[in-house]
Amino acid sequence: MESPNAQPDPSKLRRRANMLVMFTAGAVLIGGLIGGFLPGWLPEDAGARKTALTLIGFPGDLLMRMLKMIVVPLIVATMVVGVSSLGDIRKAGRIGGRTIGFYAITTGMAVVTGIVLVNLIQPGIVGASVPADVANLPKSLREPKGALEAMLDVVRGMFPDNLVRAGVDMNVLGLIVFSVALGAVLSTMGERGRPVLRFIESFNEAIMKIVHLIVWYAPIGIASLLMARMGAAGESFWRVEVRQLGWYMATVLGGLALHALITLPLIYWIIKRRNPFTYIWGMAQALLTAFSTASSSATLPITMECAKQNKISERTAGFVLPLGATINMDGTALYEAVAVIFIAQSLGVELTGAQMVVIFFTATLAAIGAAGIPEAGLVMMVIVLTAVGLPPEAAALILAVDWFLDRFRTAVNVAGDAIGAGVVDHYEQRNTAPAPQAAA
Ligand code: ASP
Repeated sequence: MESPNAQPDPSKLRRRANMLVMFTAGAVLIGGLIGGFLPGWLPEDAGARKTALTLIGFPGDLLMRMLKMIVVPLIVATMVVGVSSLGDIRKAGRIGGRTIGFYAITTGMAVVTGIVLVNLIQPGIVGASVPADVANLPKSLREPKGALEAMLDVVRGMFPDNLVRAGVDMNVLGLIVFSVALGAVLSTMGERGRPVLRFIESFNEAIMKIVHLIVWYAPIGIASLLMARMGAAGESFWRVEVRQLGWYMATVLGGLALHALITLPLIYWIIKRRNPFTYIWGMAQALLTAFSTASSSATLPITMECAKQNKISERTAGFVLPLGATINMDGTALYEAVAVIFIAQSLGVELTGAQMVVIFFTATLAAIGAAGIPEAGLVMMVIVLTAVGLPPEAAALILAVDWFLDRFRTAVNVAGDAIGAGVVDHYEQRNTAPAPQAAA
């Protein structure tokens, strides 16, 4: 008799996954292309323009809502199940240590790439001067709290004073800390912990089945999100802002490309000796969703689904990916370093070697602290700017193009998590593989 958990035919699964990637890539292309022309097609009248953009973006808005709806139960359920299934605390420590170690090393490499590139290209010196858009800056940069308070806030967020509010605010880090504690404690309770664990396990399975449905709607939402965002940016975005900030954008994008296409794949290949690009292709739907939503947290359900299709064990994915979506942001870390050094160059401030080291550490910290939501990296830049004595309002220099770069750095953030899951799973599977049997 076939068990209810029997896996469908792998070649069918692969075909299904490939089809989804094609649909999603098509959606990004169509959405981006139409979005590029949209400003010229929209009505002149501001009110009518706004209504048109709201309608165009409506399917995308629904996608964002579906993803956000699912992310809180998904994080709690996968983390509790993941941690409790590790059984003993040493195993939990090992996978935790590997995950955090991998994330720290790759984030550090991303920051170094950014620092080297921005010093080589010097976009703030070779580029044209740009008008600062202070009025539209997020409050944290206009009225900064100071680096220390901002850092303490990150730690405070890890221990939410109200669990329900943590869910409402999508405080992913806080939910992770709670879920790890709950999973660990349940696993020590033996029989008495079992009913709760069994409930959460089955809840987790049901949530993943809902994600299964959402992934088929995602391409429609993605096309809509891109059209609406590009349409809202208007023609001046390409004619004015991109031209003014072209060198800065090229530096960030070049750094991100180096990290995502060379550094991360190389690490994957060195450790796993498998083609990293086949693996990345398997994760493509998550990367494209990250690009379209500019949110690692909202992308998490899709990343989990792709990991499952890439045969990453649920235990590893359930632990490594939610943690990665919130603390591992290679793209954001690289961007923080480039942006701050670019700002210093534009203001004519010469940074010392020691200040570069400060930027290395604070950019890493800012990336860890940034929430997986759109433009969170910009908000966290206050830590890096104040640490080297630059005025936080100077972030206004890069504001105009931040929404655009955000998409690329979010995709790289998710790529870092995906490669992390592949690498950690490699070690986990090696450790749990049965000892080879002697030939009979
Ligand atoms: N949007 C990014 C993310 O969700 C964070 C950032 O703004 O850099 O990963």
